[in-house]
Amino acid sequence: MTRRPGFPAQLGPSQAKPQQPQRAVSARTGVSSVTPLRPQGVGLDSEAVRTRMVTRLAGQGVADPRVLGALGRVERHRFVDSALVNQAYEDTSLPIGLGQTISKPSVVARMVELLLGTTPGGARLGRVLEIGTGCGYQAAVLAQVATEVYSIERLRGLHDRARENLRPLRLANVHLLFGDGMEGFAKGAPYAGIIAAAGGEAVPRAWVDQLAVGGRIIAPTVVPGGRQSLMLLEKTATEVRRSILETVHFVPLKSGIA
Ligand code: SAH
Repeated sequence: MTRRPGFPAQLGPSQAKPQQPQRAVSARTGVSSVTPLRPQGVGLDSEAVRTRMVTRLAGQGVADPRVLGALGRVERHRFVDSALVNQAYEDTSLPIGLGQTISKPSVVARMVELLLGTTPGGARLGRVLEIGTGCGYQAAVLAQVATEVYSIERLRGLHDRARENLRPLRLANVHLLFGDGMEGFAKGAPYAGIIAAAGGEAVPRAWVDQLAVGGRIIAPTVVPGGRQSLMLLEKTATEVRRSILETVHFVPLKSGIA
């Protein structure tokens, strides 16, 4: 029998109502940030399960404190269907509707860690482009580690759902776009990082063109032999270095909008 985290004990509709966010002013920067309020009665529980998830990720080798901090802060249960909240902090991908899935936390952590690369510890990455907003979870994670996040989705239904999911978090640095991410998003370029949540046959030329020198692309891509692997591209002043990393299973990158 698999052990399910004991969360949430109960997440009734009345408890899940959006509440006024708390404003917090950082002592270090003096910058006002928003701490989203959790549904009453489950807040502490969800924090405890999230902490356990982060501890597991650290045990699996995720070392960057920025990534662990981000996954510890973003409430993944807010992004999945209410029937699936019990599984929100397990290391599993989950359906988000329209045949698409939210990636497992370990894959999100690994990809964001690769995206950050050798950016000096503690520093934020600059502008990031995400292809495949889905439910918006990874965009919220990216918002914790990058200055600006442009996230593009080709399915109108999911684009709208992500907007709903992200609204209560009030992340001013996330910009949701509806369109075909194969073409990137030239208006936001150049990007310090580009991350794809859907796997293609090749990394589109537009992404490489829109990447800043010194930037990284991390994208699931079909590699020789037919398997899908994480592909890391690093752009220098003179070349684009490509590395093929571990095998992954992402939904397909598709052209056009729907
Ligand atoms: N990062 C997402 C994962 C979503 S799954 C999350 O946290 O939920 C991948 C998404 O990529 C799907 O929603 C799919 O519709 C989208 N997608 C596939 N091809 C795309 C394209 N060309 N442009 C934009 N989005 C695309």
